[in-house]
Amino acid sequence: MPELTCARCGRTMPRMEQPPMAGPWGVRIQDGVCLDCWKAWQEEQTIVINHYGLKPHLAADRERLYQHMAEFLRLDAPQVTP
Ligand SMILES: [Zn+2]
Repeated sequence: MPELTCARCGRTMPRMEQPPMAGPWGVRIQDGVCLDCWKAWQEEQTIVINHYGLKPHLAADRERLYQHMAEFLRLDAPQVTP
């Protein structure tokens, strides 16, 4: 099973079998963090959404949420090819 050094917790962990979300962030997360840290973000995400009153179906709010996610998971934004 392929392994990675998780950007958030620093442990050597098995790589997730599937990108946990669609789009460029999914691959970035799959290559960057472990499943435990992804699950931790899932819980944190709810708090962030409620705290800032974000509406993830709006592109601008989604962008803000991704910024929080990047900070939480200690990931750089994925390279987006135009
Ligand atoms: Zn981790």
